[in-house]
Amino acid sequence: MELYNSIIEKVNGHLGSTVPKKYAYNPDKTWEDVGGNQLIMMKESAYELGGDNKPAVNYACISSDDYVTEDEIWVYGKDLNEINGSVSFARIVLVKVDSLKGEGEEDTEPLFRAIQDIDFVKYHVYPKGYMIRSSSDSFREQVRVSKDAVKKGISFEQVGNSYIKEYKKNPNVLAVRVIFATVDDADYAEMRKDAKKVRDITKTLSRILEGMSTDCHSCSLKEICDEVEGLKELHFGKEKKEFKG
Ligand code: SF4
Repeated sequence: MELYNSIIEKVNGHLGSTVPKKYAYNPDKTWEDVGGNQLIMMKESAYELGGDNKPAVNYACISSDDYVTEDEIWVYGKDLNEINGSVSFARIVLVKVDSLKGEGEEDTEPLFRAIQDIDFVKYHVYPKGYMIRSSSDSFREQVRVSKDAVKKGISFEQVGNSYIKEYKKNPNVLAVRVIFATVDDADYAEMRKDAKKVRDITKTLSRILEGMSTDCHSCSLKEICDEVEGLKELHFGKEKKEFKG
């Protein structure tokens, strides 16, 4: 599963010059989860990640190659209990999955379902005092953090552990790296472009699954298919399989 490899290979280069703090996954060190949407009022808010129109990017990439072999949390910049005003923010997730291969060729449907399941994890994590507002159109993930959570010592390590615990409920997931960035010198504009590319790849897979024709010349998805290795092979492979029955 190599569709996202070119994006994964660029991640470290986007994150500026700071050496990240790294934490091994510890399921006993998650932050309390409230199990559903929560409302943090302005007066209860300590600050916002991505507040005051600062960048706030989120995307997740999956691969069966060995980019990620351990469950880890990487933090570039100030941690949640060190921030005292709006900061730029990114949360990037790299997931190693089992190969998801059928008989000699990748099967589009299980692949697409696996990608969707992994992507939906972001809607199942509700750390207490950490109100996430995401927009799939603008690829933003803005977070309002409460004064109370900061007082109790909320950290990216704990929030990252909460995410990894949720990802690991999926049996296809072998390893996860959750990256948080609040540094000023990260390239958030490039991250946003990659977040869009991730979304475009997933959209293309969805269209291929719907059974569209394989006429690349008249296809509106040609640009992303020309750019991302593996998409055309998936589409042509699917059609060949259906033709054979
Ligand atoms: S392989 Fe060709 S027809 Fe299929 S989605 Fe890509 S550009 Fe469109």
